Amino acid sequence: MEVKSNITLKAVCYHCGRYLPTKTHQGGDNFCSPNCISIYKMLFKYHLCEYYNFNQNPFNQYKSQTFLNDLYDPKKVAQLVNYKHNNLSIITFHIPAIGGSGCVWLLTRLHQINSSISSSRVDLLKKQVVICFNHYNISLRLLVNILNQIGYQPIIPQ
Ligand SMILES: [Zn+2]
Repeated sequence: MEVKSNITLKAVCYHCGRYLPTKTHQGGDNFCSPNCISIYKMLFKYHLCEYYNFNQNPFNQYKSQTFLNDLYDPKKVAQLVNYKHNNLSIITFHIPAIGGSGCVWLLTRLHQINSSISSSRVDLLKKQVVICFNHYNISLRLLVNILNQIGYQPIIPQ
């Protein structure tokens, strides 16, 4: 019978919960990828690490942001925003990674990351977040980038 030598190694990525390769096992909290480190650093910077108490190993990971270039186009932005009046815009994002109380906890605290976000509300069943923001102070592109940086990449309809 073959004996598996790595059977006692159970370290997982502090952020996403994936098993870590043996070489990263020395001491401290470990991460499986630079993307997971960057999400963790973002949450740490804004005092949002309580997130991990709700969502141990949430599995959400930072993804490509090339589509953000679309959001330079004012026509595209106007098409995505639900409501716009004076300095206030309201937008609804569909975010597939929404799935538990930790997601709600974090996504309703977006104002802690950027004070130009006045409120955010989560619909768990629809996997949607509705965000009110001051469009003079924060662009839609930056708003989407914040969501990406915390591992909640929204689907931008084409
Ligand atoms: Zn990870």
